[in-house]
Amino acid sequence: MNVAPKTLRHLSDLRDAGLAPVDKQAALEQVAARYAVAITPAIDALIDRTDPNDPIARQFVPDAAELQTTPEENADPIGDHAHSPVEGVVHRYPDRALLKLTPICAVYCRFCFRREMVGPAGMPLTAKQLDAAIAYIANHAEIWEVILTGGDPLVLSTRRLRQVVTRLAAIAHVKVIRVHTRVPVAEPARITPELVRALKATGKATYVVLHANHARELTGAAREACARFIDAGIPMLSQSVLLAGVNDDPQTLGDLMRTLVECRIKPYYLHHGDLAPGTSHLRTSIAAGQDLMRQLRGRLSGLCQPTYVLDIPGGHGKSPIGPNYLAEDGAHYRVEDFNGDLHCYPPPK
Ligand SMILES: *Cc1c(COP(=O)(O)O)cnc(C)c1O
Ligand code: SF4
Repeated sequence: MNVAPKTLRHLSDLRDAGLAPVDKQAALEQVAARYAVAITPAIDALIDRTDPNDPIARQFVPDAAELQTTPEENADPIGDHAHSPVEGVVHRYPDRALLKLTPICAVYCRFCFRREMVGPAGMPLTAKQLDAAIAYIANHAEIWEVILTGGDPLVLSTRRLRQVVTRLAAIAHVKVIRVHTRVPVAEPARITPELVRALKATGKATYVVLHANHARELTGAAREACARFIDAGIPMLSQSVLLAGVNDDPQTLGDLMRTLVECRIKPYYLHHGDLAPGTSHLRTSIAAGQDLMRQLRGRLSGLCQPTYVLDIPGGHGKSPIGPNYLAEDGAHYRVEDFNGDLHCYPPPK
């Protein structure tokens, strides 16, 4: 008899699915007790069990290395708490605010920067908290854009999303609604025409930012899910996290960026790995990230170039971290081309 595939959430599920080696059970129990686990059928189907270094498994299957927290790591690595005026809102930059509707995600990424905040035990905003969050946005005329994030906003019901979008769209100064999500990859069937319609607000611009880290995540079903947004007039961007052993070589990273562009998704950010606890085995150096960016610039279309950013610990926001192509050289500028050759540019008059 066929049983409908289910999301793997417990160590026993992982064991039955052949994703938790017998000799690692005790350590993995500890990892799973500390950090949420969820692997949807769509993601499970992508895991190559014959490859011990499978880049999909590395993103979602718990690893004993997560028990190692390094001194620089921090439970709130990007300082969300420092800028949260009311529950669910993070207002760090004047013109845009995050609205975190739920701490629940479809899948839990092992490198998540909010891993101490997300999980299935978390509670979505209550009606009262949502009222307060929307009132805050309505009372701050400088908020031009609201970014729905979480958790993953697209785990919420279509009805609830429609209500939130309708309420945000009623605020005159809010012109843009941006949704950050992993659901088109993790659970493509969830992106129904009704959901797409619920995110569109008359007179406002909706953008969807897909979180994807490897070209293999863009399966046929995931591409169709994204096309439903784009064909409905919702532009898509992507954000990726630079991850050791997942996408930290020029071929893999380039394939990811090209695949996104082929799906009409414009690469937006490549995040340097945040200092989330137990993630040092997945982080690269910044120098390695800059070198990868140089190689992308040298090899691929401008459409395939994300901005490499660091979220500065302590809540100071994101900054582009290079590489740099322009330097001052005595009385001249020195500018580097895509081959790495240097050229002089005349100084200002
Ligand atoms: C990342 C982030 C944003 C969005 O930044 P963009 O550069 O506009 O993508 C907004 N607010 C907070 C608190 C953030 O962490
Ligand atoms: S989907 Fe986003 S918020 Fe959820 S676990 Fe992954 S990185 Fe964290």
